[in-house]
Amino acid sequence: MQNFWIRVSMPVLYGALLALLLSVMFSVTLALIFMLLVLLVVMGYRARQLYKLGEWLSDARLETIPEGGGIWDDVFSRLYKMVKRHKETRQKLAMELLNIEQATAALPEGVVSLNEVNRIEWCNPLAQFHFGLNANRDIMQDITYLVRQPEFIDYMQAGNFDEPLVMKAARHEDMVLSIKLILYGVNKRLLISRDITQLERIETMRRDFVANVSHELRTPLTVVNGFVENLQDMHDLSHDKIQRALHLMAEQTSRMDHLVSDLLTLSRLENDQSPMRTETVDMQTLLDDVYRDGQMLSSDRHQHSLEMTGPARLSGNRNELRSAFSNLVSNAVRYTPEGGAIKLRWAVRAGQAVFSVEDSGIGIEAEHIPRLTERFYRVDRSRSRETGGTGLGLAIVKHIAMRHQARLEVLSEKGCGSTFSLVFPEKRIAA
Ligand code: ADP
Repeated sequence: MQNFWIRVSMPVLYGALLALLLSVMFSVTLALIFMLLVLLVVMGYRARQLYKLGEWLSDARLETIPEGGGIWDDVFSRLYKMVKRHKETRQKLAMELLNIEQATAALPEGVVSLNEVNRIEWCNPLAQFHFGLNANRDIMQDITYLVRQPEFIDYMQAGNFDEPLVMKAARHEDMVLSIKLILYGVNKRLLISRDITQLERIETMRRDFVANVSHELRTPLTVVNGFVENLQDMHDLSHDKIQRALHLMAEQTSRMDHLVSDLLTLSRLENDQSPMRTETVDMQTLLDDVYRDGQMLSSDRHQHSLEMTGPARLSGNRNELRSAFSNLVSNAVRYTPEGGAIKLRWAVRAGQAVFSVEDSGIGIEAEHIPRLTERFYRVDRSRSRETGGTGLGLAIVKHIAMRHQARLEVLSEKGCGSTFSLVFPEKRIAA
C-alpha cells in the first residue's frame, strides 16, 4: 500500500522538486506554469491508460492486454494473471462438463434433468430417443406437454416416486419403458428412463409358460382323479370295469409323463450351462434307427421310404439329432391319415446337408407356419392331444437345430402335405 502511494505520487513529486528549483533559479510564475504542465501530462497519461484499460475490458483477451509503464505495469500484470487463471479455470470446467456429458451420453439409461416445475434443463441422447425429445428445441419446455400419456402425467403430479412407472413409449411401437423420478439438490429432479421391452417379453413368456404347463397337466390329472374317485365309490366293481379304468388312467399318466419328459428336454437344451457334446455321427445308423422308429409308430398305416445321398458323417450330438429327426417323423405319422406316404431324405443341397421329412398329410395353413416352433402352439389342439402330442416337439427341434447352427424349413399347404427340413451348414459335414 505504502509502496503504491510512493509510486503513484513519484512523477508529481519529481515535478514539484523541479518547480521548486525553477522558482529559486528564475521565478515563481515559471515554476507554477511548469508544475501545471507536469500535472497535465500526468493526468493525460493516466487518462490514456484508463481509456486503454476500459477498451480492453470490453473484450478481455490475454493476447490483447495493453502495455503500461510505472504503476500501470503492475495493474496490467495483475490483470493478466487474473485473466489467465480465469481462462484456465474455465477450460477445466468445460473439460469436466464435457466429461460428464460424455459419461451420461454413454449411460444405458435415458436421463432428463428437470427444474422444480418440470421444465427440461438438459437430456442425454437415450432420453431423447425414449421420449422423442429434441435437445435443442425442447430445452425449458414442460416435459408433461411433450410426453402426453395420462399415466405419465399422473405419475409426475402424484409426488410419490418410490416405485418406477412402467409404460409404453408413445413414439416407438412395442417399446416398454420403466421410468423413475429422483429428487436431488434444491428442488432439482432427474428423470431416468430404461428400456425394459426385453425383460417384459421374458416375463410374459414365463407367465404364459407356467399357465400353459399348469393347463396341460390339469386335464390328465382331472381325468385320473375322476377315475380314482369313481373307483372308491363303486362297490360292485367288475374285473372289466377295473381294467377299463386302469387303461384310461395309464393313458393319462403316460401323457403327463411325455409332457414332463419334453419339458425336461427343453429345459436342458435351453440351459446355456450344458454345452453340447460334439461327436462324429454315423448318419446311416442314425437314419436307420429313426426310420425304424417311424415305422413302429405308424404300425403299418403309412408307406415309409428312406433316401440317402447325403454325407456319411455329421459333426454333432447323436442323441439330440435323433430326438430332432424322430420328432419330425413322429409328427409326419401323427398328422398323416392312414394310407399316406412318409419320405425321409438325407441329401446335399448347395453344399449344405439336409434332412427332410415329407408327408402326404393334412398340411398346415400358411398363417400358422411362423408360429409352429412356439412352445404349446398347435394348429388343432384336440388332434394333437388325441395323437399324444405335447405341443413341445417343434420347440425342441428348433433348439436342437440352433445348437447345431442349422435351420428348420417348413413347406406346407393345407390338405396337400408338408415337408419339414433341417439344413446343416457345410462346416458340420465331417470328413
Ligand atoms: P404337437 O405335440 O402338438 O405335435 P409340435 O410342436 O410337434 O407339437 O407341433 C406343433 C403343431 O404343428 C402341431 O400341433 C401341428 O398342428 C403342427 N404340425 C407339426 N407337424 C406337422 C405335420 N407334419 N403336418 C401337419 N401339421 C403339423
